[in-house]
Amino acid sequence: MQRSGTVVARLTATFRQLYNVDARAIIVMVRAWRTVGYNRLMLDLLKRHFGYDSFRPLQEEVITNVLAGRDSLVVMPTGGGKSLCYQLPALAFGGLTLVVSPLIALMKDQVDSLKANGIAAEFINSTLKASESRRVHQMASQGQLKVLYVAPERLAVSGFRDFLGGLDLSLVAVDEAHCISEWGHDFRPDYRNLKVLRQDFPTVPVIALTATATEKVRRDITDELDLPNAETFLASFDRPNLTYRVQNKRDPRAMLSRLIRGHRGESAIVYCFSRKDTEAVAEGLSDQGVRALSYHAGLDAAVRSENQERFIRDEVRVIVATIAFGMGIDKPDIRLVVHYDMPKSIEGYYQETGRAGRDGLPSECVLFYSEADRFKHDFFIKQIEDDGQRDTAHRKLEKVTQFGQLQICRRRFLLEYFGEARAEENCGGCDICVGDVEEFEATEIAQKILSTVVRTGQRFGAKHVAEVLRGAKTKQVLSNGHDQLSVYGVASDMAGEEIKQIASLLVSRGLLAKQAGDYPTLAVTEDGWTFLRSRQSLTLTRPKPPEPAFGYVVAADAGYNRRLFDQLRDLRKSIAIDKGVPAYVVFGDVSLQQMARVMPRDRESFSQISGVGAAKLEEYATPFISVIGDHVRLHGLDGRDQRPKAPRPRRTSPGSTSDETSKLVRQKMSISEIAQRRGLRSSTVLRHLEQLVADRERIDLGYLLPDQERISAITRAFQVTGGTGLSPVREMLGEEYTYREIRLVRLALAQEFQPAG
Ligand code: ADP
Ligand code: MG
Ligand code: ZN
Repeated sequence: MQRSGTVVARLTATFRQLYNVDARAIIVMVRAWRTVGYNRLMLDLLKRHFGYDSFRPLQEEVITNVLAGRDSLVVMPTGGGKSLCYQLPALAFGGLTLVVSPLIALMKDQVDSLKANGIAAEFINSTLKASESRRVHQMASQGQLKVLYVAPERLAVSGFRDFLGGLDLSLVAVDEAHCISEWGHDFRPDYRNLKVLRQDFPTVPVIALTATATEKVRRDITDELDLPNAETFLASFDRPNLTYRVQNKRDPRAMLSRLIRGHRGESAIVYCFSRKDTEAVAEGLSDQGVRALSYHAGLDAAVRSENQERFIRDEVRVIVATIAFGMGIDKPDIRLVVHYDMPKSIEGYYQETGRAGRDGLPSECVLFYSEADRFKHDFFIKQIEDDGQRDTAHRKLEKVTQFGQLQICRRRFLLEYFGEARAEENCGGCDICVGDVEEFEATEIAQKILSTVVRTGQRFGAKHVAEVLRGAKTKQVLSNGHDQLSVYGVASDMAGEEIKQIASLLVSRGLLAKQAGDYPTLAVTEDGWTFLRSRQSLTLTRPKPPEPAFGYVVAADAGYNRRLFDQLRDLRKSIAIDKGVPAYVVFGDVSLQQMARVMPRDRESFSQISGVGAAKLEEYATPFISVIGDHVRLHGLDGRDQRPKAPRPRRTSPGSTSDETSKLVRQKMSISEIAQRRGLRSSTVLRHLEQLVADRERIDLGYLLPDQERISAITRAFQVTGGTGLSPVREMLGEEYTYREIRLVRLALAQEFQPAG
């Protein structure tokens, strides 16, 4: 348990304000904290003000460091929960927390979110009218604010430093701190002004936060802000709630509309390469009745910000954009990010997909992969004049190509790219790991491709090789006499794109080598020759053609009442419109889904919902409980479960194989024993149990469950991760917990939430 004298002292002062209690009561409380502990106290603040039940990884460590008055550098992925690292201390400190953020467009929403949680916050930037700005200055000077957001350019405005000097400053937070570095992707010269904060307030702790992790950028931040002793907190860059998928780009419009349909009513970003494409794709969607807008740097600034605004406020569900879009987006409930065209670098891809699922709920990232897109990028890269830059661009593109053609876990590849080693083989959240790829027999076509490479003298690229195989009459084919070759036209039934893709797979397999450079030519490697001579057979894997189904994780099991969720969403929206704030400021999807699962009918149980703190309990308990109550009455639910009372039809017939399992469970056999006895895999036995529970079979799982402490930890992890997926929970709990026990606890929870009837 962590405990520090300074921390408790600071918190004592805070609690006097927060809880409005007298000195004697505080002494009693401090004693209580000493017994219940500092952690309990932090959790108390977290629940009371933000409505959350537990911290995300590293949040608590960071907060402890900040509260102890030390400087911190926090590197966490998007959606990691960086804001809380300064917002919670802001509450605990007596004075004001100054937040520097480059994103003027975001400040209002951030401030609205804090206000919705009952926290006194304001912002000062160029969008404020003079009178409003005066009012905020005044509130700050009079000590009425806990959090003040400002843009970096403020610090250059004459008089602003003097104004700050007159404030009781407790903490300085520098958000998006990579903007200070020229090595980052988003350098803002104004960030260099931030130095003066350290000069003006040498004793006030500073916390710098960013999602960009490179060594160089990190060093720049601590140098420029003069934080030589800052403690660095580096979170994992894994985003366990995101699934990664690559689809071969054939008929992309149809592929896209299938994906969007699979995410009905949810927010999605579609990234395109060119401005023109964004408009065409958005129009195409609109024609199909999907509300979509485009966004790119060529649009009028007013149109651009209006489109962005409408997306944030859920007036349109889909935004089709160039990579110009996203920096100013804090929207937590984006469920789908599609790369309609191939991205230029893994960094970009990771950042763009990172905008999905900030709230931690399952969300999907799909990349449409095609060789043609690569050539498009290649074409532009070739125009880069600087040799070094062109090489770098080529290398980055090559990595994306590799990502698209991976035969191993995509998450693992991403994490390794960012220098994070990963132990487990199967992530359970990418197309490769969940087996969404198909194996195909490639012996014959591989031989044809390799032969063609040999016969054309190993001097051509994949495009030409494909043309020869297809029997095309291009100038290059004819002038080289390649129409005379025995391989000419032997694969005329295949699309050029497919041949090129297989050629790339052969490169990944090491049977072909690709010469780097502006015109990458193919050559047969030693392994390739061995393959040709020995006539071995060859199987390759590639993404399955898209199915009408949608995200497996998303579809796996919602676990909440969808109809009630939709009603709660409507309510949320009408409140949000009334207040002029984005819907997520009222409640996030995590909260609404939990409401639609637990169906709280009184204030006490409503207050237990994640995201319901003291302020939101006051403000929203009544309308939300009323909608839930109506729903429960109308549908004759007992208030706990989403399913109607009527027993589900049994999917298993009596005497079926899961009945046999049921019998053995009654004899209190362990899973492994049952598996052994029946010659099944343990996972099959577990599936039987899930089936039995779904069929409302009364089975006693108690003896299979871990001890109470572990059950609680797992239950809590399910609440935090907000879904029913096993991997996020495992991720959160670590290796000490097995998938099997997590799955069993999930089963017990499912059983518990079933109505008795
Ligand atoms: P970042 O700035 O790191 O991208 P945010 O601070 O915007 O992330 O947080 C992302 C989302 O996670 C927000 O919707 C926030 O409310 C939520 N969040 C943060 N901390 C917690 C927590 N401890 N429990 C539940 N949700 C959290
Ligand atoms: Mg942030
Ligand atoms: Zn994987």
